[in-house]
Amino acid sequence: MYDVIIIGAGVSAIFMAHKLTKLHPNASILMIDKGKKLHERTCQGDGCDCEVCDQYIGFAGLGKSEGKFNYTNDFGGSLGMKIGNQNALLMMKEVDNVICSYGGGTVPSYQTHNPQLASEAEQHGLKVLSTTVRHLGTKRSTEVFQNLYNDLNRHIDFLFEADVVEVSKERDFSVRTNHGTFRSKKVVLSTGSSGSEWMLEKCEALGLRRGPSRLDLGIRVEMRGDQLQTILEDTFETKLHLKGTDYEATTYCMNPNGRIIRKHQHGLVMPDGQNQLEKGKSQNLNFTLFVPTIFASKKEADAFAQHIIGGINRERGRVVVQRLQNLLDRIATTDEALMENTIRPTLSAEPGDLREEVPAKYITAILEFLQSVEELIGESIDHDTLLYGIDAKFYEPKIKTNQWFETDVEGLYLIGDCSGETHSLSQAAASGLYTAEHI
Ligand SMILES: Cc1cc2nc3c(=O)[nH]c(=O)nc-3n(C[C@H](O)[C@H](O)[C@H](O)COP(=O)(O)OP(=O)(O)OC[C@H]3O[C@@H](n4cnc5c(N)ncnc54)[C@H](O)[C@@H]3O)c2cc1C
Repeated sequence: MYDVIIIGAGVSAIFMAHKLTKLHPNASILMIDKGKKLHERTCQGDGCDCEVCDQYIGFAGLGKSEGKFNYTNDFGGSLGMKIGNQNALLMMKEVDNVICSYGGGTVPSYQTHNPQLASEAEQHGLKVLSTTVRHLGTKRSTEVFQNLYNDLNRHIDFLFEADVVEVSKERDFSVRTNHGTFRSKKVVLSTGSSGSEWMLEKCEALGLRRGPSRLDLGIRVEMRGDQLQTILEDTFETKLHLKGTDYEATTYCMNPNGRIIRKHQHGLVMPDGQNQLEKGKSQNLNFTLFVPTIFASKKEADAFAQHIIGGINRERGRVVVQRLQNLLDRIATTDEALMENTIRPTLSAEPGDLREEVPAKYITAILEFLQSVEELIGESIDHDTLLYGIDAKFYEPKIKTNQWFETDVEGLYLIGDCSGETHSLSQAAASGLYTAEHI
């Protein structure tokens, strides 16, 4: 009989287990994951044919990414609303302390807060969202999580490449896997967004109701590297928010001198940003302008994403690119126009007409946003700016939990993104630390 079984060995789970082992060195804990150990996660993901792709699955979950920890309540989830803003910031501070004590401290943190920029932006309808950032990069992030694993491995049991077939409760919990059945007093689900389908099944079996579901879609912009210089003078990057008449839009994943790469998720291919530390500097800056939509269910949100992105992909991983001037003139970009474009694309994409591929709301949002940015920087956005269709961010629906992330089933907890409350590394990790205190 274990004291706690944690299903999922991603970011939130690791921080929870770390804290549990500090608070209760003698507690018996089992962590189960459907993926591999961290050092065995070698697939690069780009067009791979893995049945279960290593890129997102296995120890550290999506922590094996660029490892950009944003310590803020301004974005990245609703942890502040759930546990109080001050409390959330305290938990995120603790997350950063853990990261630093496991090797992340060699990467300095920076702040994007800039009161003068915020007040100028406001005059043009833009809100500046600010954060403290520790951007580890994939290599350092992987090292930090490996160090955490080495430490945890001395205190808790792990089960990798395991299928959890059933979670049920009588007096205690019973977790049936393809490697045997394990019993425990408490169970924590931390399967992130990669465990979405599994969660759907298990929620139904456990009688947990999933609420409405959010889906962000947005055009990824690739502009001249110096175009936002006046905004970025004092901050390496920024996050801007625009409230339109029937939409809200926020910039995401801004990469000065970065590149655009293909992101594979849920069988779909999307243009994603990569920072300059990963594959060297480009002359360009890129970001996505995400516009959120709330759907009645996760199924409806996924169907919409399949319809729009699947339609663009045409079953061959197609991504569309269009010059800003061509979008304004309502004409498709041609191969010749792309060849002559002064801003060189860092992603090989198919030239076309975004208006034929993307719902009007996203086109309106990007054009109105770029107009506000033009006013803010006091110069025209280069008409050779490239616009790629279309990036997406998927969210898990919220499931009812109390202030300690405990569900209506006593002793069953949801932490990280599968709770629907967090959407970022820092908030997912913080939710793990916070719930560990209660458990
Ligand atoms: C491409 C990409 C890049 C991102 N980059 C950033 C970033 O730079 N900064 C940022 O703040 N946020 C980023 N995010 C979001 C961030 O990674 C997540 O919010 C965070 O990792 C969530 O942590 P988690 O513990 O909830 O889930 P995860 O870290 O995803 O962990 C979930 C774990 O559950 C396991 N699992 C899934 N299903 C099962 C199952 N059925 N049985 C057993 N185990 C299972 C998985 O193997 C995984 O280990 C990114 C997201 C994506 C998709």
